[in-house]
Amino acid sequence: MKLAPRINQVPASMTLAIAAKSKAMAADGIDVCSFSAGEPDFDTPDHIKEAAKTALDQGKTRYGPAAGEPQLREAIAQKLQTDNQLPYNAANIIVTNGGKFSLYNLMMTLIAPGDEVIIPVPYWVSYPEMVKLAGGTPVLVETTAASGYRITPEQLRNAITPQTKLFVLNSPSNPTGSVYTPAEIRALAEVVVEADIFVVSDEIYEKIRYDGVEHLSIGAVSPAAFERTIISSGFAKAYAMTGWRIGYGAGPLELIQGMNKLQGHSTSNVCTFAQYGAIAALTGTQEPLGVMLAAFTERRQYVLEAIAAIPGLSCPKPDGAFYVYIDIKSLGMPALEFCERLLDEHYVAAVPGDAFGTAGCIRISYATGLESIKKGCDRLAKFVHQCQ
Ligand code: GLU
Repeated sequence: MKLAPRINQVPASMTLAIAAKSKAMAADGIDVCSFSAGEPDFDTPDHIKEAAKTALDQGKTRYGPAAGEPQLREAIAQKLQTDNQLPYNAANIIVTNGGKFSLYNLMMTLIAPGDEVIIPVPYWVSYPEMVKLAGGTPVLVETTAASGYRITPEQLRNAITPQTKLFVLNSPSNPTGSVYTPAEIRALAEVVVEADIFVVSDEIYEKIRYDGVEHLSIGAVSPAAFERTIISSGFAKAYAMTGWRIGYGAGPLELIQGMNKLQGHSTSNVCTFAQYGAIAALTGTQEPLGVMLAAFTERRQYVLEAIAAIPGLSCPKPDGAFYVYIDIKSLGMPALEFCERLLDEHYVAAVPGDAFGTAGCIRISYATGLESIKKGCDRLAKFVHQCQ
């Protein structure tokens, strides 16, 4: 079959592929430790599920506006005003099929063939592929473990050309867990404004931070930065709602109207009654988030100590999200092979850095139970020892 060239230029999502493989192995009765997908192992909090059930009983089962339920758009705008000092109105919000579709929709709406999109490396697996699917050119800028895998203002400035349309910023970061300091965000905002480009700030891990580090949204730096900012976020990570598929984009009115048009011809609205669960997530108690954060904090500590105790492995301390990004170069084995053997021979699922643009690393997600983490780290240590 001759498929369109557009689809042949992108590989399948490696995070999804490895997560699916480890879930299939577990379904076959294999005792897999899954460090693969960034998927909290917690159940969605009860009050959120109740709100969706009530909405279902109340007949919220029909088509809704493509941009999302007005009440949810309002709640998201409120959240962005209160938590992030971003003066959005409901009209600036679009509810999307996961945070992922807010990004895809953005690329399709903003990026034209020839446009360049600056993406710091390591990056989340789908950013460059979304740019390519939209006909744009990803411009990859390497960062280092020494700089905490954060792009500097100089690096950003040097990567900008007359074709640059957009800069992709992700803090806290997937896959490294690094968080930009407010001063770093301000310095990046200055470059964005000076060059008059757009920035999409993927803030899906905003709520998952450790040791009191601050989160500053780049759009809050100045009115000029705000005009050039698009926020992408969602409910999956902070509220354990991965399967609900509810995310959102926030940005200038003209852009959101364009994204709404695309949505009208593609997904239409996100599942109507599920959106009522999302309203409860924002307006209800935030206590479950605290419980999850406490668990993530404990797991992070355990994983960091376990990795530090394995000779040959190293990783920077992540300030956010639920990943550690481990350098395995000293083992002399390609990360793809390492992860394949780790899964097939030791039943531990991790994602090779190839998915994120750095071949000598692997990503471990600690969004899984502590018992599984302990077992998985023991198996990892055993395998690394064998490799040496
Ligand atoms: N974002 C999560 C991850 O990186 C879920 C899988 C995906 O959408 O890539 O593991």
